[in-house]
Amino acid sequence: MKKNIILLSMVAALGLTACDNPATKANTDTVGETKKVYTVGVDNTYPPFEFTQDGKLVGIDVDLITAIAKDQGFDIKIEQMDFSGIIPAMQAGMLDIGMGGMSITDKRKETVDFSDPYFAAGVSLVVPDTNQTITSLNDLSGKKVVVKNGTVGASFADKNTEEYGYSIIQVSDSASMFQEVTNGTADALMEDYPVISYAIANGGLKLKTVGERLTGDNYGISVLKDKNDELLDMVNTGLNNLKENGEYDKIINRYLE
Ligand code: GLN
Repeated sequence: MKKNIILLSMVAALGLTACDNPATKANTDTVGETKKVYTVGVDNTYPPFEFTQDGKLVGIDVDLITAIAKDQGFDIKIEQMDFSGIIPAMQAGMLDIGMGGMSITDKRKETVDFSDPYFAAGVSLVVPDTNQTITSLNDLSGKKVVVKNGTVGASFADKNTEEYGYSIIQVSDSASMFQEVTNGTADALMEDYPVISYAIANGGLKLKTVGERLTGDNYGISVLKDKNDELLDMVNTGLNNLKENGEYDKIINRYLE
């Protein structure tokens, strides 16, 4: 009898290793019920989606995935990293879920599956608030544009460099990107408009957006492609439940007017 039990638990343990993503671990909560822990990668700092307030990681992404996990009965562990490292970390099996204000793009769909969209965004061109000469892409000839590695803004900048004649500076986080323009190292930057608007309003940055929006895209929650259908289903069901029960609106309103 005892032998059988040992054998059964060995099979269970082997089964777990074979089917589960290495980032996923089981967790036992206070009543002894086992919940899965999914590791979620977010950007280093990307207010209002993830940022530290009073020593605590908060933001729309953080609150949303926390609420989805609660709704769907799983636990999460959030890790902050350079945005460009999120998908590679998923591919390396270190993360189960990727967020970070991540836009749904066809290129990314080659490696990840996205949830239903949860936020509408798009890239804006941004210059110092005192600048009177750059009002659109057409004024960027000979200028330096700073972008953040691995973002939609960076690939837009890349694609259009020849047409508009600017050069590109790459950095790995948004704060550095804003600084390059406020200290005059770069003439302009490209950033998602909800993020730059929030930074200008709340961070007192002397920057402004100019011209038309450069892209229109939606944020989605990502999982590694073709391998996480069950997790993706839970994320979508949870997201949908939060939209229906008003929790989604509450989260958005906590950070945005
Ligand atoms: N939404 C943009 C993208 O997905 C930027 C994300 C970010 O900088 N965290 O590329």
